[in-house]
Amino acid sequence: MMYYHNFLVDVSRYAELGKDNDFPELDCCPMCRARNRLQRHGFYERNAIETEASTYRVTICRLICPDCKKTVSILPTFLLPYFQHTLDFIIFILLAFWLTRSCLCTHQLRRFYERRAYGKQTEWTLFFREEGYHQVLPKDPKEKAIKLLRMIQALGKATFVRRWWGHRINSFMAHSLYHGARVAKTE
Ligand SMILES: [Zn+2]
Repeated sequence: MMYYHNFLVDVSRYAELGKDNDFPELDCCPMCRARNRLQRHGFYERNAIETEASTYRVTICRLICPDCKKTVSILPTFLLPYFQHTLDFIIFILLAFWLTRSCLCTHQLRRFYERRAYGKQTEWTLFFREEGYHQVLPKDPKEKAIKLLRMIQALGKATFVRRWWGHRINSFMAHSLYHGARVAKTE
């Protein structure tokens, strides 16, 4: 499973620190709830792309539960699950395109995230309703997506990712894994 942690550093600093990042200790297993300290279980690397020009290779720490033997990956909150681009970059390219028609990446990639953002609108709306937002949202899908992305920015990306995926990690796991496989094939 994935566990999100705010390392309080940006992606470049996180990449530079590698295995020396301040990885959290977990005293309770998030999977079986056993009160045992999870043990270090190696590292792996993945890409984090901030802009077209800057790609970082980041180190992810894995922990294992001594009871249920399942593993947890400690993901920095600047990474979206199963995506190689950071949430910053996704919000930035979509808002730039929708608001000023500037295209900051390939059309193919922008359309990919556009479809993704439209597809997530209902879930994002539900998330904000549950968080206590009662403002009326625009009817037009693009206007609505712009509004929602700005609400995510206002809430703070780290907070959004942690709460949103915290809420839905179980029910979305199957779908996300499927989607992740598709992304891996097309990119
Ligand atoms: Zn466990």
